[in-house]
Amino acid sequence: MNPDSTVAQLIDGVALSQKLRAMAGARVEQLKANGIAPALAVILVGDNPASQVYVRNKVKACKDIGVQSVLEQYPGDFAQDQLLKRIDELNRDQSVHGILVQLPLPSHIDANMVIESIAPDKDVDGFHVASAGALMTGLPGFWPCTPHGCMKMLESINLDLRGKHAVVIGRSNIVGKPMALMLLQKHATVTICHSATANLKAMTLQADVIVAAVGKRGILTADMVKPGAVVLDVGMNRDDKGKLCGDVDFEGVRQVASHITPVPGGVGPMTITMLLLNTLEASERRLSATKTPRP
Ligand code: NAP
Repeated sequence: MNPDSTVAQLIDGVALSQKLRAMAGARVEQLKANGIAPALAVILVGDNPASQVYVRNKVKACKDIGVQSVLEQYPGDFAQDQLLKRIDELNRDQSVHGILVQLPLPSHIDANMVIESIAPDKDVDGFHVASAGALMTGLPGFWPCTPHGCMKMLESINLDLRGKHAVVIGRSNIVGKPMALMLLQKHATVTICHSATANLKAMTLQADVIVAAVGKRGILTADMVKPGAVVLDVGMNRDDKGKLCGDVDFEGVRQVASHITPVPGGVGPMTITMLLLNTLEASERRLSATKTPRP
């Protein structure tokens, strides 16, 4: 059982997002007062229904805090060279501070080539190899939004990660690997698990913090969690009734963990919030660049 109470405390991604977005409003005003209208270009290729929902949510979140957002939609057969040409134009457009290409892209388009074509100083998704390198070496750069949102959630419960054992389940470039690097940067001892991990339960039972980022519901059950552990659920799946759910057996694990994120209402809203904050960061960097006199 959870040592302090009967069930885990929720880390509420909606409430934390509201707080962070309210604070971001002041930064938007400051930018505007200095002649910069922060703007994000969102590109969607094809008609993937989930992607359409994601981009709509991102565009709305931008508008809500006063960030300009331009949604560009292209048909599923849009040519790769046309897409690269458009990104090149957006890279040069001084009025655009962030560029987001919604993934997945149709199979005839090389997603890596598209990501690498985005100017690193507009890579607000943090997927460019320059952003990944900056994270790995501890240099300033844009951090991928989902793991960065997870870090903010850990910060919100004042968890000191120094010396803690964190287990990340999943090793994708957009969630698992950057998550592990961010935890490492905060002095956690980190284990990364994946589909070839021999005994997942033996790993998770040692963890003070578990981040589940797999995309399989029920991957983490109560018997796999040390009492008092903090559990973050990144997964987005559908249950038998078609309802959104995470990777974690929420009802079971909340009886054991000290803190847990729900799905929906956990990591998902934080991902969008971090995208907004990255866009503001990109705009602020533009502002300082315009203020710095050229040698
Ligand atoms: P992904 O690229 O498919 O990666 C999944 C990872 O899980 C892989 O590293 C895979 O290992 C590992 N895995 C698969 N089966 C496993 C098992 N039985 N035991 C341990 N590890 C296993 O997915 P992703 O893009 O990282 O996303 C993960 C989940 O997070 C998905 O549900 C996605 O929808 C969700 N997501 C949510 C948000 C949000 O905002 N809430 C954002 C992004 C993603 P291998 O590398 O060995 O194949």
